[in-house]
Amino acid sequence: MANTAARSAEVEKKIDEILSKMTIEEKVGQMQQLAANMDAAKLDEYRKMGTIGSFLHVLGNDTQKYIEPAEKSRLGIKPIFGIDAIHGHALLKGATVFPSQLAAACTFDEQLVEKMGEVTAKEVAADGLDWVFSPVLCMGRDLRWGRIDETFGEDTEVVARLGAAIIKGYQKDGLVAACAKHYIAYGEATGGRDAYDSQVTERRVREVLLKPFKAAADAEVMSVMTAYGSIDGKPFTTSRKWLTDILKEELGFNGLIVTDWDNYKALVHGQRVCEDLCEACKDGILAGNDMCMYTDVFYNAAIEAVKNGEIPMSAIDDSVRRILRMKARLGLLDGMPARKLPPRSVIGCAEHVAVNYEVAKESAVLLKNNGVLPLGNVKSVAVIGPNADDVGAQYGDWTYYSHPNPNPQATPKDEVYTLLKGVREVFGDARVTYAKGCVIEDGDCGADSDKAMDEAVACAKAADVAVVVIGDRLKYNGEGKDVAQPILRGRQIELLKRVKAVNHKVVAVLVNGKPLVLSEAEGYCDAIVETFNGGDMCGLAAARLIKGEENFGGKLPISFPCGVGSGPDYYNQYDYWHGGRYADVKHENPYPFGFGLSYSRFEYSAPVLSAGKAKRDGAVRVSVTVKNASDVDGKETVQLYFRDRVCKMLTPVRKLLDFKKVFIGAGESKTVTFDVAVADLGYYDENCVYTVDAGAFDFYVSGDGINFGHAELIVE
Ligand code: BGC
Repeated sequence: MANTAARSAEVEKKIDEILSKMTIEEKVGQMQQLAANMDAAKLDEYRKMGTIGSFLHVLGNDTQKYIEPAEKSRLGIKPIFGIDAIHGHALLKGATVFPSQLAAACTFDEQLVEKMGEVTAKEVAADGLDWVFSPVLCMGRDLRWGRIDETFGEDTEVVARLGAAIIKGYQKDGLVAACAKHYIAYGEATGGRDAYDSQVTERRVREVLLKPFKAAADAEVMSVMTAYGSIDGKPFTTSRKWLTDILKEELGFNGLIVTDWDNYKALVHGQRVCEDLCEACKDGILAGNDMCMYTDVFYNAAIEAVKNGEIPMSAIDDSVRRILRMKARLGLLDGMPARKLPPRSVIGCAEHVAVNYEVAKESAVLLKNNGVLPLGNVKSVAVIGPNADDVGAQYGDWTYYSHPNPNPQATPKDEVYTLLKGVREVFGDARVTYAKGCVIEDGDCGADSDKAMDEAVACAKAADVAVVVIGDRLKYNGEGKDVAQPILRGRQIELLKRVKAVNHKVVAVLVNGKPLVLSEAEGYCDAIVETFNGGDMCGLAAARLIKGEENFGGKLPISFPCGVGSGPDYYNQYDYWHGGRYADVKHENPYPFGFGLSYSRFEYSAPVLSAGKAKRDGAVRVSVTVKNASDVDGKETVQLYFRDRVCKMLTPVRKLLDFKKVFIGAGESKTVTFDVAVADLGYYDENCVYTVDAGAFDFYVSGDGINFGHAELIVE
């Protein structure tokens, strides 16, 4: 502790020294981030100045071109290189491509997610870069939104815990800086329209959305990115309340805030809240943004505004201090220890592939199994479907397939396991055949589509089992790809139906960015496995899982939709709805948050509390014994929810309070305990004051989000 305090005092002293020597131009230069794909001539001009604070999307050896002029500049401050390493350093072909955040959330495993961060950080650092624009801490609740795949799902507790875990992994040993984004309420945009206005109240933000950012600040995340959108008409980029008063002051975040891509331009040309870019830059800085991403006019506009006295030097100094603080932590300031790894040393190494396999395996969720799985040793397998051998669809957004977007030239690296490759390897003794069957496309699927479908049906007919790999693809998933209907597009349902008519063992594997409506499709499937965007190792992990060489341990961090337009379908909504359902959709969601089957069978005892009563500042222990009543070892995620039984404000039907993933050997039992602080059972009242009620509270323990054990606590 004393060492850390002494170290930060030393850093602050060093920063004071640097600040005292800096000109206005040098200070504002540090606040500018430019992109590798901007106008080449302009970029070159800025690069040669050697005083620009940061560049993004520069890879590997190219960084030298930027570092050299910086080292030769008057103060010799090196730039920070930022990259969208969202699920692995995936824009670089050859690096480890992990499952998407949504898939990784299915593991419910903080240690594994931390490890994923650590591996990514090593690969990013070995590529000469310093800063990952990850994790996404938005909530995935509106399935129309294109960026659901980038979230850790729909629940505050899961997003906060896994977010803090991956930040810890990224920033371990100060290797790279993490960036918690997008602050805030970005996922709540009305209609699921990316970057659009979010009609949420401050109370709702505090109840649901702020906790992950608080957890990130507590985990000492080095940076936060501002969201594109607005709350009730006020853009986040210009919101002093949200950026300075709440994030920096109330949450105690002492890192730097970077805008999202070209946010300043959006203030003028999209949102129409500023007359020109000068005004936009001024409003953004005064609100609390420290660094401007991409918009290069920022540099001259901000210098002019400081010289005119429109922006006080104290605001500039505070931003530059935060930027230099991050550089110090990364070892980029002169005289500070550098922490880079030898160039390209660990990228895609065997140890990282092993971690990736583990994440892929733990993230697959078994949604349905009528007994067909595990397949064991079958004689023949037909692998069918549009996503059986489509690396781009399997990767999802933010990889060398999607950037530049789309990248038709992309070719897979050898190590990628699609389902087809995985099944061929794992079912080596069986006859494995393949037919694509159909494409994922709305409307006309092309002249050959009947022939492709017939081929797939013939292929299914001739095999013992049909593994049908369906879902979505980059056209309907990712940033800027919001959809009105989260459905299985094109002829995919027809494909399932026809395959089912000729084969009595149909295993559907979903490769998709978000939950899709399955109500019609599920009737044609004997088993359904959800992999979301499972990265490099998805096909191998899924093939071993369906064969039975591995056991399923994944759970859903997000609810499936009951129907098109039935959303929001997230689990923790308020009770009361006149009629309680849409008249045209079944609401008994078979695949809700927390759900996931296994080859093991877990039996839960009734939960027991250490005491029936507790004080508001007290604590209670909830215990439950879980028995693995099968002959297969397995992992179970035990979930603890609560409800304030009667409250002056509406509170959700239940709210996840804690979860623990445990290994339970075949035939064994484990007692899982949760220590609950009564202070965590509160809510925000109408004045946004956090309150804990006296009275009855319900605890619910579950392993599937459907069946619950119950216990009651009286708070005095
Ligand atoms: C996205 C960010 C991303 C940035 C830089 C934006 O469009 O919203 O998440 O980090 O681009 O590529």
